[in-house]
Amino acid sequence: MSGKLSFDALRELADRGEIDTVLVCFPDMQGRLMGKRFHVRNFLDSAWEETHCCNYLLATDLEMATPDGYRATSWESGYGDYVMKPDLTTLRPLPWLEGTVMVMCDILDHHSHEPVPHSPRQVLKAQVARAEALGLTPMMATELEFFLFEGTFDENRKRGYRPLATFGGYNEDYHILQTTREEHVMRPLRNHLFAAGIPVENTKGEAEAGQGELNIRYADALACADHHTIAKHATKEIAQQNGLSASFLPKWHQNRVGSASHVHLSLWRGDDPAFHDKDAEHGLSELGRRFCAGMIAYAPDYTFFLAPYVNSYKRFMKGTFAPTKTVWSVDNRTAGFRLCGEGTKAVRMECRIGGSDLNPYLAQAALIAAGLKGIEDGMELAASTRGDLYEDSSAREIPRHLRDAAETLRNSTMLREAMGDWVVDHYTRCAEWEQEEFDRVVTDWEIARGFEKA
Ligand code: ADP
Repeated sequence: MSGKLSFDALRELADRGEIDTVLVCFPDMQGRLMGKRFHVRNFLDSAWEETHCCNYLLATDLEMATPDGYRATSWESGYGDYVMKPDLTTLRPLPWLEGTVMVMCDILDHHSHEPVPHSPRQVLKAQVARAEALGLTPMMATELEFFLFEGTFDENRKRGYRPLATFGGYNEDYHILQTTREEHVMRPLRNHLFAAGIPVENTKGEAEAGQGELNIRYADALACADHHTIAKHATKEIAQQNGLSASFLPKWHQNRVGSASHVHLSLWRGDDPAFHDKDAEHGLSELGRRFCAGMIAYAPDYTFFLAPYVNSYKRFMKGTFAPTKTVWSVDNRTAGFRLCGEGTKAVRMECRIGGSDLNPYLAQAALIAAGLKGIEDGMELAASTRGDLYEDSSAREIPRHLRDAAETLRNSTMLREAMGDWVVDHYTRCAEWEQEEFDRVVTDWEIARGFEKA
């Protein structure tokens, strides 16, 4: 059993007693898998058509709290149900869980069966449809960086996350000796994901003690976001099975480099790479230049979708490979956008702003929306930048705090036109709530700073 599964193949596996459980899931606002575990017989008989979940699942925070201020759902409206509609094209085995397969769902209104506009899969589908209407298919890849820590999630939580010990004691960027020590996690991760039909390219060590990266081959945007979500989930579960914890918190320590999720993007017309023009500068077509001009110009508008928490903004530090400027460059890792595959059919733009905590559906949707605006308005791509862009005071900064990103999101005419007020208002509330929660908290830093000295 490997790769995606057809419905008939699932029936055969159930008949042979090889599969007994179906995870019926969807990505929530934070990009986590939410859903239910079905007995395979119930799934084959009825749940494949639809099942239901509480509509609070698209309006909670990381702690599953139920903040007020969402129009879509509230105590007043009684927290009713959504329909979870399995997308049977996503049926696949999850080989790291015994006897288990999974399917991704779309979220529909309980009464009208219309797609729920703020559900992350729908937010992305809407932008892909806008690109497809122009005959263009966005092809995307999202890199997954994370830290491995000693001890399971439970063990670390019970100790109050102090001290946190990285698995490995030194910078392991491209390091084979150190990464061999992680193979009890990384090898099953690569192989199980591959068997689940996710085209894993490689894993590698990253530029900090305990830090690793998983790369998956680019795919159409929806498949890419599904791959990312399942891979992130698998990384946590497989680390846990091996007595470690895998954390996608972007910045776990102020003195350590943070974790990113760089997003690679190109547009295709059928089998033709529409970003490529062999006669153009860098091999980047005029269409590609316009699209990239939009992505770069509107980066402040959608920074929230790349950096959705207070902690996300701690990553943006000079000298750490995390960018602070919305400019582009050719193969220069200090810029927010880096042109890769220069002069080849694989020419693409890498957005380096996103943290490892981004929701890939929302991040990709925002990048596509901004790029399409660049095409619509015939925007001109500025000249590429060079050198250490951390030190370039003329280059525009991305929002440096969640509070600022919430404001640029709220005021984004581009995103309101592309995604609709409903979606932008929903996620602005999400950003505001996260900030409100943080603002209430007295931090360890404040106590240590002021207890005696203030
Ligand atoms: P680097 O190591 O320089 O960041 P890689 O060659 O590892 O770059 O590629 C990074 C990601 O870019 C991979 O996941 C790859 O699948 C993806 N990629 C390659 N070609 C394209 C393309 N034309 N469009 C979008 N993504 C692509």
